[in-house]
Amino acid sequence: MTEQHTTALVIGSTTIGGTVHADYNDIAESCFPCVMDGREPGPCTQRPTTAADLTTGALVQTLPAPRWANVASRSAVVITAMGSGTSTIALVWFWALGPAEYQRTVWTVQADEVVPLQTTLKTLPQQTYRAMVAAHGKAEGPNVGMVAPLTAALAAAHH
Ligand SMILES: [Zn+2]
Repeated sequence: MTEQHTTALVIGSTTIGGTVHADYNDIAESCFPCVMDGREPGPCTQRPTTAADLTTGALVQTLPAPRWANVASRSAVVITAMGSGTSTIALVWFWALGPAEYQRTVWTVQADEVVPLQTTLKTLPQQTYRAMVAAHGKAEGPNVGMVAPLTAALAAAHH
Protein backbone atom coordinates (compact mmCIF):
# COMPACT_ATOMS: atom_id res chain seq x y z
CA MET A 1 0.00 0.00 0.00
CA THR A 2 1.40 3.36 -0.96
CA GLU A 3 1.42 6.21 1.49
CA GLN A 4 -1.08 8.96 0.84
CA HIS A 5 0.48 12.36 0.38
CA THR A 6 -2.18 14.87 1.29
CA THR A 7 -1.48 18.57 1.56
CA ALA A 8 -3.29 20.49 4.30
CA LEU A 9 -4.00 24.21 4.22
CA VAL A 10 -2.30 26.11 7.04
CA ILE A 11 -3.63 29.50 8.12
CA GLY A 12 -1.02 31.84 9.56
CA SER A 13 -1.41 33.81 12.75
CA THR A 14 -0.53 37.25 13.99
CA THR A 15 -0.35 38.65 17.51
CA ILE A 16 -2.21 41.87 18.20
CA GLY A 17 -2.10 43.29 21.73
CA GLY A 18 -0.95 39.98 23.19
CA THR A 19 -3.77 38.01 21.55
CA VAL A 20 -3.17 35.58 18.69
CA HIS A 21 -5.45 36.06 15.69
CA ALA A 22 -5.77 34.01 12.50
CA ASP A 23 -4.07 35.79 9.60
CA TYR A 24 -5.98 34.78 6.48
CA ASN A 25 -3.58 36.73 4.30
CA ASP A 26 -0.79 34.35 5.35
CA ILE A 27 -1.70 30.95 3.99
CA ALA A 28 0.50 27.96 3.26
CA GLU A 29 0.20 24.23 2.77
CA SER A 30 2.03 21.36 4.37
CA CYS A 31 2.28 17.65 3.52
CA PHE A 32 2.79 15.57 6.65
CA PRO A 33 4.29 12.47 4.92
CA CYS A 34 6.83 14.73 3.17
CA VAL A 35 7.80 16.30 6.51
CA MET A 36 8.21 12.80 7.95
CA ASP A 37 10.52 12.04 4.99
CA GLY A 38 12.75 14.86 6.24
CA ARG A 39 11.67 17.50 3.76
CA GLU A 40 10.91 21.07 4.76
CA PRO A 41 7.33 21.84 5.81
CA GLY A 42 5.45 22.75 2.66
CA PRO A 43 3.27 21.35 -0.10
CA CYS A 44 3.99 17.89 -1.48
CA THR A 45 7.35 17.85 -3.29
CA GLN A 46 7.16 14.35 -4.75
CA ARG A 47 7.20 15.48 -8.37
CA PRO A 48 8.90 18.38 -10.17
CA THR A 49 6.96 21.56 -10.88
CA THR A 50 6.31 22.08 -14.59
CA ALA A 51 4.72 24.64 -16.90
CA ALA A 52 1.35 22.93 -16.38
CA ASP A 53 1.45 24.00 -12.72
CA LEU A 54 2.36 27.61 -13.48
CA THR A 55 -0.67 28.91 -15.32
CA THR A 56 -2.05 32.38 -14.66
CA GLY A 57 -3.87 32.41 -11.33
CA ALA A 58 -2.24 29.22 -9.99
CA LEU A 59 -1.08 29.38 -6.38
CA VAL A 60 2.45 28.37 -5.46
CA GLN A 61 4.66 28.23 -2.39
CA THR A 62 8.39 28.89 -2.44
CA LEU A 63 10.84 26.19 -1.50
CA PRO A 64 13.45 27.20 1.08
CA ALA A 65 16.22 29.14 -0.67
CA PRO A 66 18.70 31.78 0.51
CA ARG A 67 17.29 34.42 -1.81
CA TRP A 68 13.89 34.17 -0.15
CA ALA A 69 15.26 35.36 3.18
CA ASN A 70 13.87 38.81 2.39
CA VAL A 71 10.46 37.59 1.23
CA ALA A 72 8.33 37.31 4.34
CA SER A 73 5.40 35.63 2.63
CA ARG A 74 5.83 32.16 1.21
CA SER A 75 2.70 31.87 -0.92
CA ALA A 76 2.27 33.62 -4.25
CA VAL A 77 -0.04 33.69 -7.25
CA VAL A 78 1.28 33.17 -10.79
CA ILE A 79 0.82 36.23 -13.03
CA THR A 80 2.24 34.68 -16.17
CA ALA A 81 4.88 32.17 -17.22
CA MET A 82 7.12 31.41 -20.18
CA GLY A 83 9.05 28.34 -21.20
CA SER A 84 8.13 24.70 -21.06
CA GLY A 85 8.37 21.71 -18.75
CA THR A 86 10.70 22.18 -15.81
CA SER A 87 12.51 25.03 -17.63
CA THR A 88 9.59 27.38 -17.09
CA ILE A 89 10.10 30.79 -15.53
CA ALA A 90 7.10 32.42 -13.87
CA LEU A 91 6.30 35.94 -12.70
CA VAL A 92 4.66 35.57 -9.29
CA TRP A 93 3.04 38.01 -6.88
CA PHE A 94 3.30 37.57 -3.11
CA TRP A 95 -0.04 39.26 -2.51
CA ALA A 96 0.22 39.18 1.30
CA LEU A 97 3.16 41.60 1.08
CA GLY A 98 1.05 44.30 -0.56
CA PRO A 99 0.12 45.69 -3.98
CA ALA A 100 2.17 44.53 -6.96
CA GLU A 101 5.62 46.10 -7.22
CA TYR A 102 8.43 44.39 -9.10
CA GLN A 103 11.16 43.02 -6.81
CA ARG A 104 9.28 44.01 -3.69
CA THR A 105 6.14 41.87 -3.95
CA VAL A 106 6.56 40.49 -7.50
CA TRP A 107 9.44 38.20 -8.46
CA THR A 108 10.45 35.89 -11.26
CA VAL A 109 10.97 32.30 -10.14
CA GLN A 110 12.18 29.16 -11.84
CA ALA A 111 9.91 26.13 -11.80
CA ASP A 112 12.18 24.29 -9.36
CA GLU A 113 11.96 27.14 -6.83
CA VAL A 114 8.23 26.74 -6.20
CA VAL A 115 5.67 24.03 -5.50
CA PRO A 116 2.05 24.30 -6.64
CA LEU A 117 -0.61 24.51 -3.95
CA GLN A 118 -3.65 22.23 -4.12
CA THR A 119 -5.64 25.29 -3.05
CA THR A 120 -6.90 27.36 -5.97
CA LEU A 121 -8.23 30.92 -6.25
CA LYS A 122 -11.70 29.36 -6.10
CA THR A 123 -11.02 27.29 -2.97
CA LEU A 124 -9.03 29.92 -1.07
CA PRO A 125 -10.60 30.98 2.21
CA GLN A 126 -12.94 33.83 1.30
CA GLN A 127 -11.04 36.27 3.56
CA THR A 128 -7.82 35.45 1.71
CA TYR A 129 -9.44 35.79 -1.71
CA ARG A 130 -10.95 39.16 -0.82
CA ALA A 131 -7.65 40.47 0.57
CA MET A 132 -5.95 39.44 -2.68
CA VAL A 133 -8.57 41.17 -4.83
CA ALA A 134 -8.29 44.34 -2.72
CA ALA A 135 -4.48 44.37 -3.01
CA HIS A 136 -4.71 43.65 -6.76
CA GLY A 137 -6.83 46.78 -7.16
CA LYS A 138 -4.23 48.91 -5.36
CA ALA A 139 -1.46 48.46 -7.95
CA GLU A 140 -0.23 51.80 -9.28
CA GLY A 141 1.43 53.09 -12.44
CA PRO A 142 3.18 50.46 -14.59
CA ASN A 143 2.37 47.81 -11.99
CA VAL A 144 -1.28 47.93 -13.06
CA GLY A 145 -0.34 46.44 -16.42
CA MET A 146 2.01 43.94 -14.79
CA VAL A 147 -0.81 42.29 -12.80
CA ALA A 148 -3.47 42.80 -15.47
CA PRO A 149 -3.27 39.12 -16.56
CA LEU A 150 -4.74 38.22 -13.15
CA THR A 151 -7.90 40.28 -13.61
CA ALA A 152 -9.85 37.62 -15.51
CA ALA A 153 -8.63 34.78 -13.25
CA LEU A 154 -9.69 36.66 -10.12
CA ALA A 155 -13.09 37.52 -11.61
CA ALA A 156 -13.69 33.89 -12.67
CA ALA A 157 -12.97 32.71 -9.11
CA HIS A 158 -15.22 35.27 -7.45
CA HIS A 159 -16.64 34.05 -4.13
ZN1 LIG B 1 4.01 14.72 0.22
